[in-house]
Amino acid sequence: MNGLGSFGLHGKNVVVTGANTGIGQGIACSVSRAGGNVIGVGRSDMSETAGLIATEGGRFTELRADLGDAKTAMEVIDKIWRETGPINGLVNNAGIIRRADAVDFTLEDWDDVMDVNLRSVFFMSQALAKHIFAEGRSGKIVNIASMLSFQGGIRVASYTASKSGLAGITRLLACEWAARGINVNAIAPGYIVSNNTEALRSDQARNEAILARIPAGRWGEPRDIGDPAVFLLSSASDYMHGATIPVDGGWLAR
Ligand code: NAP
Repeated sequence: MNGLGSFGLHGKNVVVTGANTGIGQGIACSVSRAGGNVIGVGRSDMSETAGLIATEGGRFTELRADLGDAKTAMEVIDKIWRETGPINGLVNNAGIIRRADAVDFTLEDWDDVMDVNLRSVFFMSQALAKHIFAEGRSGKIVNIASMLSFQGGIRVASYTASKSGLAGITRLLACEWAARGINVNAIAPGYIVSNNTEALRSDQARNEAILARIPAGRWGEPRDIGDPAVFLLSSASDYMHGATIPVDGGWLAR
């Protein structure tokens, strides 16, 4: 674990939302391998992630919270800061998707997605910034965006709105906080194997069309996102602010 230089996270407390599965689990494992202490935040049992990290000798603690409620999300940050100590990094990974034609899209599917993917992300980041500024510290925020931060997509109106909004909020927060010690950046994963993409992968026609368009010729794995997240959490990226970086097997280059 030593010898990572400015890419290491030794002694850093990193909060990862949605760390029980998928991309969040991949990020939690990478952060731990880079020496960071991971605090997983989510609504489900995180013992699988805890087990993976324990096997490699890392440190993982979990805090249960429903991030559909922004007030809860803010309180989570306060609680961790109070009980675990200063937070050095926050990965806003938790997210949901709902699929329906735009013409049929419901208010509920709009609000539920916007609440988790954008509203709670903003207010959780705000809660963290308040602590960091109050104590004159520094920190790193990494938002998990999407190809739909750049593209329109189909049948995912609220998801596209939330992820496009997330890229905008990443830029806004970077503009306000870059000179105050907080780096805010985002990763836009391409098509990654997780619960989120199960519907796409089990639709044979969509699956083939997606694979044919990915220059790397394969779906991404959660671990493909983990190490780029470590980079954005580490001091190696100290001069990066407001970027949304595609990690997509070349999808956007096509
Ligand atoms: P996933 O396996 O469905 O994971 C989503 C995570 O968010 C889970 O841990 C989930 O917890 C958590 N979550 C959802 N609603 C929550 C809530 N109200 N409170 C607390 N936690 C909540 O999907 P994933 O692909 O790993 O997604 C992770 C992030 O990557 C999301 O922001 C997603 O939009 C983004 N992304 C994914 C892809 C992809 O191809 N997979 C591409 C681009 C971006 P539960 O397990 O309890 O539901």
